Amino acid sequence: MEQKAPRSEREKGTLYVCSTPIGNLEDVTLRALRVLREVALIAAEDTRRTRNLLRHYGIATPITSFHAHNEAEKARYILSRLLAGDDVALVSDAGTPLLSDPGLTLVQAAIDAGVHVAPVPGPSALLAAAVASGFRLHPLYFGGFLPRQRSARLKALQSVAQLDATLAFYEAPHRLVEMLEEVAAVFPQRRVAVARELTKLHESVLWGTAGELAVHYTKKPPKGECVVLIEGPAAAEVQPGEPSDDVVRSELEKALDSGLSKKDAVKEVAQKLGVDKKRVYRIAIAHPPQRA
Ligand code: SAM
Repeated sequence: MEQKAPRSEREKGTLYVCSTPIGNLEDVTLRALRVLREVALIAAEDTRRTRNLLRHYGIATPITSFHAHNEAEKARYILSRLLAGDDVALVSDAGTPLLSDPGLTLVQAAIDAGVHVAPVPGPSALLAAAVASGFRLHPLYFGGFLPRQRSARLKALQSVAQLDATLAFYEAPHRLVEMLEEVAAVFPQRRVAVARELTKLHESVLWGTAGELAVHYTKKPPKGECVVLIEGPAAAEVQPGEPSDDVVRSELEKALDSGLSKKDAVKEVAQKLGVDKKRVYRIAIAHPPQRA
């Protein structure tokens, strides 16, 4: 077992892997702010975005760019600073570095060189979306971004189809519909949540089958970044004797047409069909454009 030497006995600096907000600038820890203020250098994926954060908190630490295209070369420079005794903070564009963001090369090089790597935990879109989905989170599989090519995406989805786990993927808004259509091809029955613009003004989470959500976002193209969660197979099965989503939806439409508010319609349909209110609510909000 390896132990960290006391600070006074170490000549090398520490590499702090520091989480920063995914939208709302208030989502930063007190420790992250102190570390960002005290280190000799901040290695930032997007210097403009990091400067905004630093300006907001009155921090004047020097910044150097560190992104996917200069990672190998910059890792050598940062390592040389760490070996010379400087503390360095690694931050990404948003959230936690290394989670679909650069930094792995640097962290591995630091570990190999005997530099202490200290995580400074905080926001990540993955965990924010996971807890907002209401899906079971043990086990939780994180797939990052799916491959861009359609056949490779389908293959990647099929490779995790047998897992009894909630599946989480990052996706860009302009590829969301296409991705949902592919999710629908592999997981036609499962409940899916799309968590968008988390911690920002237009934060939203929508639930439905992937097919329903694809239809919704075709009509209303999404803006902002999103995380797609696919519920595990056990939870996705409708309990024996329970009505299908189509039956619930048709009852909901009748209730809404009769003039009930969405809240009352959900309550009435849940009672009438003997179905969990949360399920009826999720089906109801998968169709926001048709009803108020
Ligand atoms: N390292 C980051 C983290 O810890 O979440 C993620 C970086 S990855 C390059 C960017 C992706 O994260 C986006 O395409 C989107 O899928 C997700 N994301 C980032 N911010 C988000 C937000 N505010 N709401 C929803 N998803 C977000």
